Amino acid sequence: MTEQILLSTPHMGIQELEFVKEAFETNWIAPVGPHINAFEEEFCQVVGASYAAALSSGTAALHLALRLIGVETGDEIFCSTLTFIATASPITYLGAKPVFIDSDRYSWNMDPNLLWDALTQRAKIGKLPKAVILVHLYGQSADLDPIIAACNHYEIPLIEDAAEALGATYKGRTPGTLGKIGIYSFNGNKIITTSGGGMLVSDDQGLVEKARFLATQARDPAPHYQHSEIGYNYRLSNVLAGIGRGQLKVLSDRVAARRHNFEVYHQALGELPGIEFMPEASFGRSTRWLTCLTVDPNLFGVDRETIRLALAKEQIESRPVWKPLHLQPVFAACESIGGTVAEDLFERGLCLPSGSNLTPRDIDRVIQAIQQIHANL
Ligand SMILES: *Cc1c(COP(=O)(O)O)cnc(C)c1O
Repeated sequence: MTEQILLSTPHMGIQELEFVKEAFETNWIAPVGPHINAFEEEFCQVVGASYAAALSSGTAALHLALRLIGVETGDEIFCSTLTFIATASPITYLGAKPVFIDSDRYSWNMDPNLLWDALTQRAKIGKLPKAVILVHLYGQSADLDPIIAACNHYEIPLIEDAAEALGATYKGRTPGTLGKIGIYSFNGNKIITTSGGGMLVSDDQGLVEKARFLATQARDPAPHYQHSEIGYNYRLSNVLAGIGRGQLKVLSDRVAARRHNFEVYHQALGELPGIEFMPEASFGRSTRWLTCLTVDPNLFGVDRETIRLALAKEQIESRPVWKPLHLQPVFAACESIGGTVAEDLFERGLCLPSGSNLTPRDIDRVIQAIQQIHANL
């Protein structure tokens, strides 16, 4: 039987198990322990952040980020539309409302001009949003400078969702560390994983300390379990932090492997009519977390869905580009600003198997399958 090739699977290095063993040997099998502190410190060094809090997921990190900024019922949050639902779900946990913003074509991320226009518009009617959540999609940084300038001009806190962009750069810096708060994810499909986990980073020490406080049930400093506000159970396990420490050591290898996947696909398929690969914006280096392309059915001969289904028949998993959040039934009543770029990328976009543990033979099977689809037309 042909083995299935999956989109993106965990890829352990050699030290993870050692750190996990250490957790067992010292009996730190708890959401507290030395690996958690070390993981936070080592993570800060890798991304160039000042403070970090290790959490149970990227979604939890976003939820806390919004809480820390003081988001309340009825507030509006500007948010990238082309992303995974977890970017926006935490907005609704707090009773706030997302307003979705379209992508640009050179990074596939939030269009800075649209953001400027939308904020200017809202300032005129005195209805500025409480925060902006910016996504760095598929391993590529958004165009941070103009977005930060717009947020600073209107004094709106910027939250960066860098769940997919650990290891990327923006003008030599790390996306996720330039806004007020940044978040990362260590879910099983991300570039490095702890099976599940997340990180919240900020240069504001008070904010990160408050994040840790809220993530551990908001317990006041008293021996008798006293609480003055409601918190969450959002801390990362010390066992999983051990996995994270091992994974951090191989991050740059993982980035190199995924970028190499992209290069091989691009070399082999880039000349096919109607196939365009996701651009790499000039301001930074993408990790190519997923290799994405768009299909023009008029030029290629068949559409994205036909390719996806043909690959599935060959036991190859591929996925459409994220369905924009403004098209999601659950957000049907929400406002959106622009949207046609994200809609087009969703309509024509395909993510190919991109794991750092794919073999040259795996990649070759994907390439041949796509070449075959075209040859058979
Ligand atoms: C994976 C992901 C998240 C959520 O992270 P979890 O750790 O799975 O909760 C948030 N935003 C984006 C863009 C993601 O890809």
